[in-house]
Amino acid sequence: MTDQHDSYAESRAAYAAACRLLPGGVNSPVRAFGGVDLGPVFIESAKGARVFDVDGREYIDYVGSWGPMILGHAHPEVVAAIHAAADKGTSFGAPTQAETALAERIVGAMASIEKVRLVSSGTEAVMSAVRLARAFTGREMIVKMAGCYHGHSDSFLVAAGSGVAEQGTASCPGVPRALAQLTVVAPYNDAAAVRAAFERHKNRIAAVLVEPVAANMGVVPPAAGYLETLRRLCDENGTLLIFDEVISGFRVAFGGAQERYGVRADLTCLGKIIGGGLPLAAFGGRAAIMEHLAPTGKVYQAGTLSGNPIATAAAIATLDLLARPGCYERLESLGAALESGLARAAARAGVPLTINRVGSILSGFFCDRPVRDFADVQATDIARFKRFFAEMLERGVYLAPSAYEAMFVSLAHTDADIGRTVEAAQASLKAVAR
Ligand code: PLP
Repeated sequence: MTDQHDSYAESRAAYAAACRLLPGGVNSPVRAFGGVDLGPVFIESAKGARVFDVDGREYIDYVGSWGPMILGHAHPEVVAAIHAAADKGTSFGAPTQAETALAERIVGAMASIEKVRLVSSGTEAVMSAVRLARAFTGREMIVKMAGCYHGHSDSFLVAAGSGVAEQGTASCPGVPRALAQLTVVAPYNDAAAVRAAFERHKNRIAAVLVEPVAANMGVVPPAAGYLETLRRLCDENGTLLIFDEVISGFRVAFGGAQERYGVRADLTCLGKIIGGGLPLAAFGGRAAIMEHLAPTGKVYQAGTLSGNPIATAAAIATLDLLARPGCYERLESLGAALESGLARAAARAGVPLTINRVGSILSGFFCDRPVRDFADVQATDIARFKRFFAEMLERGVYLAPSAYEAMFVSLAHTDADIGRTVEAAQASLKAVAR
């Protein structure tokens, strides 16, 4: 922790202790705050829209555990469901009726899903969906988009090759070159690049994998017609379209981006919100595809804790609360209020800020032009974001510690929270204007 003064003393000590035993002091890299040149804040507890750190500081939270906490932290009905499930045993390694009850809710929400497999993380969901797509099509290559994140499995830690529609290169040591070459990387929102990939690698592409609302380079919405064109290209080429809705599912609409934009995927990956803050994720699609999974089919996929009873209980409670009328209208209006407040604050401070928002996820990019893909994001003023982050933290607003992430608004945020956030932003933007 460099610039933070003594009110972060406990966090600093906790980090030093963690660094002695955990690589980099954390169990997931972004938590180390390296993206903002600070040391991490250690969290003690959270309730509603607030997180509390080990130094006793309180923050309005826009990380929401990176997406899951759409109801706010420690929602009483979710916590009660977790307690009730734990009282009955924490894991059986055998089927439960609750898994079917959760599957009913997922299938009911997502028009393109007839059958669903529960797993424990978004990484597993995407990795397994891609294996299934490869087996189903008998092909090996996949197309992914630059700036989209699909978890940390080998096929997705791949950067663009040297030209459009070229095979990728590993972006992480340890990823086999041979595997990276099976991934083609196209710019987001560039359907022509995907068309070029199909031309170049005819009959070799098993799946096109995309975040239908990109949210791991900050929020970048799909351009008009983009998802429709991907759908058409996949249909024309016998390729499966995989929507990674780990963030957008139950977030941008109850039925995810598919509901919001009216485009159906062949396979859909879900995570974050469906676990209600516990480790649970899923992938699903048409029965004719999903039946290729073991034990009915030959595609092996398994998990000791898959469909874990506590996570499943949290998931059901979360989805039932979200299915109540008015939730998504409320999320939309909170998101819109935050967007317009931030835009006003930026204009007053004379700081160029481009805000992208889809419902309750949004990002402010320090630039004066539209942000449509990863190259646009990389051209923004990251140094200014780092200063803005520190100013906001100091004023009690907890943003994601990276310029490449979204702000997540929850149903626990109040109009007053949004007002306080905009006030903090006004002062912070003024401070970074120079
Ligand atoms: N897909 C998307 C779109 C994500 O945002 C993430 C995580 O941030 C993942 C997949 C991986 O999920 P997990 O971190 O649960 O493995």
